[in-house]
Amino acid sequence: MNIGVLALQGAVAEHIRSIELAGGTGVAVKKVEQLSEIDGLIIPGGESTTIGKLMRKYGFIEAIREYAAQGNPVFGTCAGMIVLAERLEGNEEPHLGLMNMTVARNAFGRQRESFETDLDVKGIDTPLRAVFIRAPLIKEVGEGVEVLSIYNGEIVTAKQGNLLASSYHPELTDDYRLHELFIRMAKERGQ
Ligand code: GLN
Repeated sequence: MNIGVLALQGAVAEHIRSIELAGGTGVAVKKVEQLSEIDGLIIPGGESTTIGKLMRKYGFIEAIREYAAQGNPVFGTCAGMIVLAERLEGNEEPHLGLMNMTVARNAFGRQRESFETDLDVKGIDTPLRAVFIRAPLIKEVGEGVEVLSIYNGEIVTAKQGNLLASSYHPELTDDYRLHELFIRMAKERGQ
């Protein structure tokens, strides 16, 4: 499976490494034309305002909406999750607006700007190692969205059909099972 990582800003090389560990081929995606060559797309963590601006500038907003509408899997991690959301807290303009959920940015507060934990995730049999960095939270999910994990009463992983989102960085540890789960979504789509 060729899995693309949107390479405008953020943790691109780390995702490519996790994709390869999980048995896929990682591709840095810099141009919209590359979307036709990949079986799934990851939007990495970084800074969502910057990523959103660059996506507008290079034509990725319409192209990824179209790509997702065709049923291709898209996975947003941290800033990438913010980019996927239909609604952002504080009346901020959404970016792709694809997932039926409300996301709050920088939701864990200053004292806990970054931390690591073990998370129970539906579809993964033992707890997943997860790194949170100035992480967003899913405040509310609408119809069609399945909650895959909860941390301290807050939703941090969710899936809506071919769309997957995590508050945290699954690519900063050696635990690549969320990438495996995403590659499975890409394989199922291909069948
Ligand atoms: N706080 C960042 C934002 O709002 C996301 C942080 C991250 O991706 N690690 O875009």
